[in-house]
Amino acid sequence: MTILLSTLNARYTHASLGLRYLLANMGELQSLTHLQEFVIGTRAVDIAEKLLAHQPRIIGFGVYIWNVEETTKLVALLKRVAPEIVIVLGGPEVSHETEAQEITRLADYVVTGWGDVTFPQLCRAILHGPKPLMKIHAGVQPPLDDIALPYRLYSDEDIAHRTLYVEASRGCPFKCEFCLSSLDKTAWPFNLDAFLAELENLHARGARLFKFVDRTFNLNIKSSLRIMQFFLDKLKARPDDPVFAHFEVVPDHLPDALKEAISQFPPGTLQFEIGIQSFNPEVQTLVSRRQNNDKAAENIRWLCQHSHAHLHVDLIAGLPGESIESFAAGFDRLFALGPHEIQFGILKRLRGTPIIRHTEAYGLLFDPHPPYAILATDCIGFADMQKLVRFARYWDLIANSGRFAHTLPHILRAAPFENFMALSEWLYERTDATHRIALDRLALLVSEWLQSQGVHADTIDQALSQDHAGKIGKTRGAKAKTDSLAQPEPSLLSRQARHLAA
Ligand code: SF4
Repeated sequence: MTILLSTLNARYTHASLGLRYLLANMGELQSLTHLQEFVIGTRAVDIAEKLLAHQPRIIGFGVYIWNVEETTKLVALLKRVAPEIVIVLGGPEVSHETEAQEITRLADYVVTGWGDVTFPQLCRAILHGPKPLMKIHAGVQPPLDDIALPYRLYSDEDIAHRTLYVEASRGCPFKCEFCLSSLDKTAWPFNLDAFLAELENLHARGARLFKFVDRTFNLNIKSSLRIMQFFLDKLKARPDDPVFAHFEVVPDHLPDALKEAISQFPPGTLQFEIGIQSFNPEVQTLVSRRQNNDKAAENIRWLCQHSHAHLHVDLIAGLPGESIESFAAGFDRLFALGPHEIQFGILKRLRGTPIIRHTEAYGLLFDPHPPYAILATDCIGFADMQKLVRFARYWDLIANSGRFAHTLPHILRAAPFENFMALSEWLYERTDATHRIALDRLALLVSEWLQSQGVHADTIDQALSQDHAGKIGKTRGAKAKTDSLAQPEPSLLSRQARHLAA
């Protein structure tokens, strides 16, 4: 009699924190419960075969926006070959609009919201009766102190090869309408002493790469400072074997005490993901995002100038009321502040988010299939939205990758958005592709485009020769052909290293 916990992660390096929470909270069923993770792109039949080899009685699947289509096929297959196995779904993708989904129809039960308490309860009822009558079970949300922490379930292999996700709090007090966390309406902290003890244990076992999934790390500054001090102590004790920490922060709340701690982190040890989303106050009001733009800009500039933190700042294109012109102005404003990466996202209609209230008034058209990206608004037509999608892709390849760090200023000059859009459209005309462009070819194309813009060939050669992309171009041949952009994106740390070296 076995219970399997399974999911399809977006990459092998992403170890599922959600499944480990469930396993940690299985109580007396824990010894019967096993974890089996897969990566999207694996054939459903191969996954099914591996799962069935355990002869499970119950399989719980974590369903997310990136795996819902593949998990739906997998559940359909399992129900064909082994209909007696009880399939339980959980995760954000099935927690809203639950009954409308094909995967729900195929499964036996769904736990919406938090599963830490409700999933084991449901398993007990399935195994020992009475048989649960309801198909959909709203997850009980216990006090965080009642939830067993999962960090000891990271295996030595996870520690050695995968990103370790950790959380010091759940939820978010803000109400940005495009975000699922807006439904939480508040944030709940875990017991900090217990959490830090778990971090200590992970560090002692060799963990060095910690990614915090807290939606707003800098909400409670006292807690933020203690966590930062934990990492600073480790860095001081083992400077030759440094830790790396990634946090999501709100940009307009950076008191001096936090700045003081941040400024002590040496290069390559700290990364912030900062949500700006839009610099347009009217759009912010429309989507209920509270943000002091001037304060946010001032803090990002401070971080760029006075800290070694690697900054990854998010913008969203396609929000209601945002035109290309206002998005471009926000992009240029952000670029001028100097963050290392601008994560240019396209609005998605996440299930359950209140953004849909603007659908009619702002002509929002979303792709009905995951990841439910916006296709057009009354401000941005379909063709222009596709241009933005391409811009985002090429921006990632050329700017965020750090592979063209010395060449980028020649591309962007005084009008970053406008000039990069021109390059983006030119690249698309030339290649008819946004993926699978070999890096040496991309370097040649960028060089050609710059020449067409009147940049002197010597200037371009000089810039490219200092860039990773240009070096690949120079050694074109057997090695260069293997450095294709079709390969997985460079790791956070290698991207960071290229930005720091530029
Ligand atoms: S976008 Fe960030 S600040 Fe806004 S609700 Fe989501 S997590 Fe909270």
